[in-house]
Amino acid sequence: MAQDNPPVVSYKHSLTARALRLAVLRIGLVSLGAGAFSYYVNSTSIEREVTGQLLLSTEQTLQRESLPFREIKDLQQNFLKEFQQTLASPGMQTKLVNDFQQIFYRHEDGSYTQRPQLFEGQPLADSRSFAGMSATYAPDTPPNDDIRARFALSYLLSHKYGSSTKGRLFNFYGVVPEKGFPIYQDADIAKVFTYSGPEALKLETYEFYARGFGTPGNETLFTRMYWDFSNNAWMTTIATPDVADASGKHHILACVDVLLDQLMARTAKPAMHGAYSTLFIADGDGTLIYHDSVMDQVKSSAGSASIRSLNMKEYFPLLDVVPTLAPGQAKIVQTQDDIVALGLIPDTPWVLAVHYPRKLMIPAIFDNLVIVVVLGLLTLLVEIFILRSILQKQVAEPLFRLLLATRLLGAGKERLRPQQLPTQSPDEIGELARAFANMAERVQDAHEDLELKVQDRTAELEKANRQLYELSTTDGLTGIANRRYFDEALVNEWRRGLRAETVLSLMLIDVDYFKKYNDHYGHQAGDDCLRSVAQTLKAYAQRAGDLVARYGGEEFVLITTTASTEKALEHAQAACQAMAKLALPHAMSPMGVVTVSVGLSVMALTKEGTADELLRQADLALYRAKEQGRNQVVLADTQQ
Ligand code: GH3
Ligand code: MG
Ligand code: MG
Repeated sequence: MAQDNPPVVSYKHSLTARALRLAVLRIGLVSLGAGAFSYYVNSTSIEREVTGQLLLSTEQTLQRESLPFREIKDLQQNFLKEFQQTLASPGMQTKLVNDFQQIFYRHEDGSYTQRPQLFEGQPLADSRSFAGMSATYAPDTPPNDDIRARFALSYLLSHKYGSSTKGRLFNFYGVVPEKGFPIYQDADIAKVFTYSGPEALKLETYEFYARGFGTPGNETLFTRMYWDFSNNAWMTTIATPDVADASGKHHILACVDVLLDQLMARTAKPAMHGAYSTLFIADGDGTLIYHDSVMDQVKSSAGSASIRSLNMKEYFPLLDVVPTLAPGQAKIVQTQDDIVALGLIPDTPWVLAVHYPRKLMIPAIFDNLVIVVVLGLLTLLVEIFILRSILQKQVAEPLFRLLLATRLLGAGKERLRPQQLPTQSPDEIGELARAFANMAERVQDAHEDLELKVQDRTAELEKANRQLYELSTTDGLTGIANRRYFDEALVNEWRRGLRAETVLSLMLIDVDYFKKYNDHYGHQAGDDCLRSVAQTLKAYAQRAGDLVARYGGEEFVLITTTASTEKALEHAQAACQAMAKLALPHAMSPMGVVTVSVGLSVMALTKEGTADELLRQADLALYRAKEQGRNQVVLADTQQ
């Protein structure tokens, strides 16, 4: 049998634990899947959003940044138009030559400077004033009236356009190819470029001058960026020449210097948080205007450092896209680390690239991922809680009660009570419990029936056994105890006698001349005779503990407890005489009737003595009784 202390189903293998483990696994997998899916969806949607924002903000920036350049371009066009129209109007040359005389004076080396105090605002005789103007003019050959008129007009218009945009533009100047340089600017140019003769201002070495007068067309040009030492600032010059004449010669070049510091500051901090910008010229090499980390190289190369010359490979994809760009429209390019929106700033040769490092998207993606995973885990907790309570209440506990009931039924100690079973459950377990209760009832009924039957059978069997025992201990012929019973009784009596210290008497009784009786009267009559002897002897064994038994053939034995040898002898003689008195006829006996001889032995029961010894003594005494003539009692020799 299994041990009585039930090893309750270990928690590890219980239904609840398994269902919970499965739930954890399932929801864990679902969470992971959802996490991965959300990661994918988020990363693509966030990237799409970032890209959209990047495009939008970049295009806005392109438009915004183009505004000052458009204004400059328009100003320069207006300047050139007014310059041309003024010159063409009749009588104007004389007037301008006159202005030239009033404004400038000639140095001995043939170069010209504006009269003193004009920069500070001192008026001319006709009360015109040109505050903020400076001018250097070092013609290679003495100027004729045409040149003088042009230079004077350039001076007047530079003042007009420069002063009208004061505060918005850094300067304004109209350069004539004969090396005349009037400029409207906060600082007095004549003081910066200390005048030391016609060679002082080598205009032909300046990019704007060389390119402006070198081109056959009249497009606006932007110089490379340069570091302006007099202003300590990054600058570029925007210059537009007039339409060249029939000989291909330009007569005026409208110029504006642009301070790039503010543009760079805006470029360094694009609208989108975390993004950075670069600005370069759309010239194939990506000559840099602004890039946060390489400005030193840009400065040391006098503005010629480019994406290609600095071998900035990660930006090469940008250069490939530049030829396809339309001004003001941004395009997206994916580089190794960044999403880049780039576009041409309208009215400039510049490309603005706004870089959005991809790694900036990671926190947002992970934030979403964390939300998904946390939601998943919360769901898991809730499901575990619900599942656990359902399983515990509706499955595990009822099953456990069923299990206990099964054990109880198995042990079979007491009847199952219905309340020990989850029969009230409305589900399959309830069904099972009700079926189990029915079965248990039937099993228990059957068990009780069986027990009753076994009790009956056992009683019958005991009775049969008793009968069998009686049969096996009774002599069939005489109905008294047989020798087998006698042997047992003698030993038992002896033991009892030992405790009680009693005296036991044993008579061994033999029918006299019985062979002759048989021979004479027949075996049948012999049997009848033996029955009579037994009946007679029975009367002398009436007390509790007395016993008469057939010892074998025509021999009987009778044991009684007795007070003394005398009493025992009297008792034996009474029995012997009773037999003779019965007077069963025996024609072949000298006594004429059936008689018996008795060997009597009497013994106080001691440990030393044995039942065998008592018998042996009685046997010897019987032998003597036969010898002395039969029909008598002989007491054995043993004296107590
Ligand atoms: P004694 O006086 O010396 O005892 O002589 P006896 O003839 O009685 O003794 P013996 O031992 O020579 O004979 C005993 C006889 O008892 C022999 C046998 O036929 C007879 N006998 C033994 N058992 C039975 C029995 O169950 N029925 C009958 N009818 N006779 C029996
Ligand atoms: Mg005999
Ligand atoms: Mg005999």
